[in-house]
Amino acid sequence: MPPRSRTRANRYARRRRLRVAARDNDLTDVQWAALTTAWGGCAYCGASGTPLQRDCMLAISRGGSYTLANVVPCCGSCNASKCNTEVTTWMRRKKLDEKAFLVRQMEISRALISSPAEPDVGPDTTDASL
Ligand SMILES: [Zn+2]
Repeated sequence: MPPRSRTRANRYARRRRLRVAARDNDLTDVQWAALTTAWGGCAYCGASGTPLQRDCMLAISRGGSYTLANVVPCCGSCNASKCNTEVTTWMRRKKLDEKAFLVRQMEISRALISSPAEPDVGPDTTDASL
């Protein structure tokens, strides 16, 4: 069994692809599930009981990315309507409550971002040499 399929170029390309994926697409399935639970429906119009799609508040084409702070669950009709429009412009046009949305979005993303990232805030920081 000659090990000829694992070339260095292959490995390098694979690593680069993983790095790009981590940077541009770092919303995990767990985070997405937490997002949909926290919102309990479409982030924009509140529709529930409908399949939710991942919407980038700041569209990818405008420099946004699939991160926890930028993705919200939204229903198919909001997603199709918003498309690449800037989110607050679109919400104003649709007469949706953009302020309530922005506040809630900030609270939810902050809660979800900080909770899994706190494992070493604990009582075992005993080697403080101050
Ligand atoms: Zn909606």
